[in-house]
Amino acid sequence: MRVTIVGTGYVGLVSGACFSEFGHEVICVDRDAAKVERLCAGEIPIYEPGLEELVDRNMAAGRLSFTTDLAEAVPDSDAVFIAVGTPSRRGDGHADLSYVYAAADEIADHMKDFTVIVTKSTVPVGTGSEIERRLRARRPGLDLEVASNPEFLREGAAIQDFMRPDRIVAGIKGERSKAVMQALYRPLFLNETPVLFTTRESAELIKYASNAFLATKISFINEMADLCEKVGAEVQDVARGMGLDQRIGPKFLHAGPGYGGSCFPKDTLALLHTGADHDVPLRIVDAVVTVNDKRKAAMVDKIIGACGGSVRDKKIAVLGLTFKPNTDDMRESPALVIVPGLLNAGATIAAYDPEGMAEARTLLPDIGYCTDAYATMGGADALVIITEWNQFRALDLDRAAQLMKTPLLIDLRNIYGRGAPEKSGFTYIGVGRGMTKPERAQPALKVVKG
Ligand code: NAD
Repeated sequence: MRVTIVGTGYVGLVSGACFSEFGHEVICVDRDAAKVERLCAGEIPIYEPGLEELVDRNMAAGRLSFTTDLAEAVPDSDAVFIAVGTPSRRGDGHADLSYVYAAADEIADHMKDFTVIVTKSTVPVGTGSEIERRLRARRPGLDLEVASNPEFLREGAAIQDFMRPDRIVAGIKGERSKAVMQALYRPLFLNETPVLFTTRESAELIKYASNAFLATKISFINEMADLCEKVGAEVQDVARGMGLDQRIGPKFLHAGPGYGGSCFPKDTLALLHTGADHDVPLRIVDAVVTVNDKRKAAMVDKIIGACGGSVRDKKIAVLGLTFKPNTDDMRESPALVIVPGLLNAGATIAAYDPEGMAEARTLLPDIGYCTDAYATMGGADALVIITEWNQFRALDLDRAAQLMKTPLLIDLRNIYGRGAPEKSGFTYIGVGRGMTKPERAQPALKVVKG
């Protein structure tokens, strides 16, 4: 198959590289000329494990190329994917579809024979129909079908997720687009990946419903964490006890500073608007959004509280700035609320993130950036872990305690328990860890049989 991907960001680049790995001939288009220039020179503009090798291999094999010019790519394509951004529209929180419609218009201008236009961008229900209407209005007589193929990959594990997805969802409106989607994903069909062919509307909604449900799990466990702290329970144990129930499952039950990233915040907001547009109040999603917004701000209070009620003129060492590990993506990261909150309260910040600092420097210009984790700690009054990068899981805590003025560890991701930090002289504060020391020291109850 010949494939064009319009929009070469986190989703477009990974999808394009993976489709070329399947053997298809892929041209990735982006209107950002600097990005395309870097890609043509073999440079990957984002951090995503394994992506560089995949792109190199398929460029060398002549199956993957990059351009700014849709005219080079679209006319000969069997399928054209739209993978441009759909951020929150400024002011009202609706999904901003201007990039999607601009891409659709440009595609229409260059189409020749039968082509399937596929939305991979996350778009509100009804967008596929509107794209089809626009295409037909712009170029009456074009032979086309519009399909929806939402993407579920996670940054940081994007290639694995694309190559071995839990499912493929394809919303189609015609047998020809079904055949094209089958041909595109043939290697995964052979792997017995579940493939769900639905209406376009269902496919569009599956994506939002999935993200909203995952966000719900996160806000749910975060509220449980607050309760744990008041009643002497451990949220890790509560989550494990819940997650072992197969109806619930263990994933997305990690208490922390609230969800961020390029998807959950904007997608939950957009879903609320879709509900409102159709007079269907989505009260659960509404609560999830509110809980999450408050959560990030509450982390500032938590840190200030742990520092004795004030951080004025105190130095806080911050580890991790990206919204999650294994990505350089800073979009909606909890750090973007927590760090300014601490600065406003009078703290100075020294931070380190393995991949996010280039982007962070533009978003958080008023903090110190360090070359490694330990460089943040000299003379610090508190150490705060915001993102759970693996390299923060095994810090030399004796060394850390010696470097710091006050050995106080505020672990917003619960990557440590009390044991090791306290042995090194730290005061340890996690999230939802309400069990007091003496209780924790009690021997486990023996189960007497018979
Ligand atoms: P991104 O911002 O990383 O990339 C979008 C790219 O599109 C940019 O490079 C931009 O220059 C380009 N672009 C915009 N308009 C264009 C046009 N008219 N022609 C050519 N290029 C154009 O965005 P992303 O994170 O890859 O997300 C893309 C879509 O995929 C969004 O709808 C998002 O919700 C969805 N999604 C994202 C993820 C994720 O983890 N990032 C996961 C699943 C779904």
